[in-house]
This record gives sequence, structure tokens and C-alpha cells, in this order.
Amino acid sequence: MRNKLSLFFIAVLSIIVLAACGSDDDNQGATEDTQDEGNSEKIQAVTSFTIIEDMVKEIGGDLVDVYNLVPTGTDPHEYEPLPDDTKAATDADVLFYNGLNLEGGDEGWFAKMMDAVNQDWEVAYQLAENVEPMYITSEDGKEEEINPHAFLDPVVGIEMAEKARDALIEIDPDNEATYEENAEEYLEKLIDLDEQYKTRIDEIPEENRVLITSERAYQYLADRYGLEEGYIWAIDTEENGSPEQIKELLAFLEETPAPVLFVETNVDTRPMETISKESGIEIFGEIFSDEIGEPGEEGDTYVKYLQFNIDVIHDGLKEE
Ligand SMILES: [Zn+2]
Repeated sequence: MRNKLSLFFIAVLSIIVLAACGSDDDNQGATEDTQDEGNSEKIQAVTSFTIIEDMVKEIGGDLVDVYNLVPTGTDPHEYEPLPDDTKAATDADVLFYNGLNLEGGDEGWFAKMMDAVNQDWEVAYQLAENVEPMYITSEDGKEEEINPHAFLDPVVGIEMAEKARDALIEIDPDNEATYEENAEEYLEKLIDLDEQYKTRIDEIPEENRVLITSERAYQYLADRYGLEEGYIWAIDTEENGSPEQIKELLAFLEETPAPVLFVETNVDTRPMETISKESGIEIFGEIFSDEIGEPGEEGDTYVKYLQFNIDVIHDGLKEE
């Protein structure tokens, strides 16, 4: 950990040194560049991962340039910012992150990046700040850890979007009306999704309301809408799919028969395939967890991501 940290600082330092050297060479062009940036009145926003990126784009509209840190296909729990990331974070007017330990908490990659680039925490908004945390137990069963995945619950999505709206208004009060208007339209869609989650989960026979996934990412969602959760591992940062974990889920399935299994788009599917083979329960399909889909693909916005999940969960569990 300590080693990783110092490597990170060395990396950041070399970027600063390189940047300083570079600017000597093209001092001529620098005036022009500064002017260009000055002319663009857009708010420069940095977001920690794809769900928040999408929210800020929706609510910021044409007024905000969004630079996102962790892309689809990369784990938001553990991340090493790239040179372009640290540059964007340095220049940002406002930064958005999930909190609830998604970005590793006080000792995590986002906090380290903030310190390394000397950014002001006053302009960094934690969108899940007011969410009541739920806890997972670590592998050794001793430590309790905050479960970061509140955003899978549309009601939390509503809270996060409202917080993003309020933050943009605070940073850029002149455009309050536009942010309000964009947010209203967006919130309507999220409110509709909450309704769908309620009514469609109610349609599932009670004994079928068991959601089996690889990571325990659906705790908030399950708690909100009355699903029972079963999972192979508690959080991605732990060992994924050990024989012990497989055994535990198989034992759970003996007690709590689930109609189908689901597997997240961002995990190794092999452990769930083992569960399927051993239990004889089929894997119904993929659902989204830590990231939205690639642009142009299924679930490539937060609204579509939530819609996709409820469609799959409903279709998978309603039968028999
Ligand atoms: Zn996760």
C-alpha cells in the first residue's frame, strides 16, 4: 500500500515536472490557449465514474464539459488516475464522486488524487452524501464495511441527481433556471423508474423474490423493494469466487431456492457458471452493476441501465 502510494506521488511529480518543462518550449502558443479557455464559458466538471458522468451530462447539458475518470470496463473501487486525469482534476471547476467508499474512502484513489493535485474539497461534491449507509461484512467476518452500491436503487439515483443539480447551481448560479429545467426532466424519468421497480417487483410471486448475483452490489435495491439477496462475494476488492464462497452460496440456495441466477456485466462469469452447474439453476442473463454500458450499446445511460435491470430481473423471476 505504502509502496503503491509513493509510486503514485512519483508519477504525479514527474507529470508536474514534465508539464513545467513543456510549457517553456511553447510559451508562444500559451497565450492563445489561455484565451481559448477564457472564451469558453463552460463549467469544467470531473466525475469519478460512468453513472455520475451520465447524470452530470444530463443536468449540465450544454453548459458543462464533463471529463470522466473511471471508464466502463475499469473497476471504480480501485483505480490509478492517468496523467490526463490529474490534469483534468487540476483544471476542474467542480468534481463529483459517489462517496460511501466507492472510490475507496478517505484513503482511496479519489482522495489521494485530490491531495496530489491540491484541489479544493469545497468544489468536490459527494453525491451519495445523504444516503443512509448499509454495511457488508468482510471475508474474515470481523470488519464491517460500507456497501458503496446505493446507485442501483432508483430512489438513491433521485437523491444523487438532486445533489448534482444543487451543486451545479452553487458553482454556476447564473444558469440556475437551466439546471432546474434539465434536472426536472431527468428526475421525472427516475421517478417513473422507481414506480416500475415497485409495481414490477410486486408482480413477482413472493417465493421467487430472490436475487442471486456475483457481488453483493444489490443490497440497497433489495432492501428498498423487498428482494432477498444471495451472492458469491461481498465486494469486488476481496477474493472473487473462492471455493469457500462457492460453497456458501450453494448452501444458501439449498435453503432459499431461487428461480434463476444473474451475473453482472463487469465480473468474471466463471464463478456463477460453477454455481449454475452445481445447483442446476440456470443463469437467466446479465445485469448492470458498477458501470453503464459502452456508448451505443445496451444500457449506455443511467436511465437505460436502471430500465435494463428491472426488465431482466422481472422477466427472470416472474415465471413459475
Ligand atoms: Zn462493485
